[in-house]
Amino acid sequence: MEPLTEEEVRTLFLNANALLNGHFRLSSGRHSAEYWEKFRVLQHPDIVQRLCGEIARRYADAKIEVVMGPTTGGILLALETARQLGVKALYAEKEDGKRTLRRGFTLPAGTRTLIVDDILTSGGALRECLELAHENKAIIVGTAVLVDRSGGTVLLGLRQEALLTVEAVTFSPEDCPLCAQGDPVREPGTTFLTK
Ligand SMILES: [Zn+2]
Repeated sequence: MEPLTEEEVRTLFLNANALLNGHFRLSSGRHSAEYWEKFRVLQHPDIVQRLCGEIARRYADAKIEVVMGPTTGGILLALETARQLGVKALYAEKEDGKRTLRRGFTLPAGTRTLIVDDILTSGGALRECLELAHENKAIIVGTAVLVDRSGGTVLLGLRQEALLTVEAVTFSPEDCPLCAQGDPVREPGTTFLTK
């Protein structure tokens, strides 16, 4: 399969209305001109297939045996990436603030594991998955995310792949240039995303 460029990844997000431009209040309380609504991409099987195809391409020679992803977006990517690599997927669910394998799933020691997730911001979910894989004595081959919003600054100490790396630019409401221009701020959510 042909490599997918960063520009093509950005275009896939834009076309799916998953990358919004405007003036948004993020859940952190900070303001931003960009908002990533990853589920707008994750609702399109063909786009997910293309994105996971790129992850699978990058890890094609890595002898991956299982692809693990954290709930919720990560498990959709884990399934499709696993399908393309011809291996099994594992779902890291949250229980009492910790990632666990429920439903009788197991990760045998020594299993060559790829960990995938949708958007990396602080890397919290990926770190939880790494911890889970460590506990099970799996071999963690690497990680892959669709978008690294840390600008490449979150380093996990192993092979990391991002299909698109961006630097999140956010402002405190007091210093927000969009507020200064008088642009009304929108709260991302379900109400205004009607398309
Ligand atoms: Zn603002």
